[in-house]
Amino acid sequence: MGNCSGITEAGGRCRAIAISGSDYCHAHHPDRADARRRSASKGGKRGGRGRGGSAVEVTELKSQLSDLYAAVLDGTTEPKVGAVAARSPMCEPGSWILS
Ligand SMILES: [Zn+2]
Repeated sequence: MGNCSGITEAGGRCRAIAISGSDYCHAHHPDRADARRRSASKGGKRGGRGRGGSAVEVTELKSQLSDLYAAVLDGTTEPKVGAVAARSPMCEPGSWILS
C-alpha cells in the first residue's frame, strides 16, 4: 500500500494511505467523490442547524414559552417562576442562539 496521489485542499500531496488497488485514499478516490459530496453537504446542513440561530431551537423555545405562559395562566406555575424562566433566555440571547 502506497500513499495517496491526491492533492489536498492546501495544494500539497495527500499523505493518507491509499486504498488497496487504488492510487487514492478514501478522501480522494474518484469513486467516492459523489458520496463524499453528499455527506459533506449533509454535514454542512447539520452543522448549520447546530451552529447558528437554529430555527429548530427557536421553535422549541417558543413552544416551551407558550407552555409556560399557559401554565402561568391556568395557575399551574407561579407567575414569578414563569417570569424568571421566560426572561432568562432573553437576557443572554447568545447563550441559547449561538450554543
Ligand atoms: Zn488522499
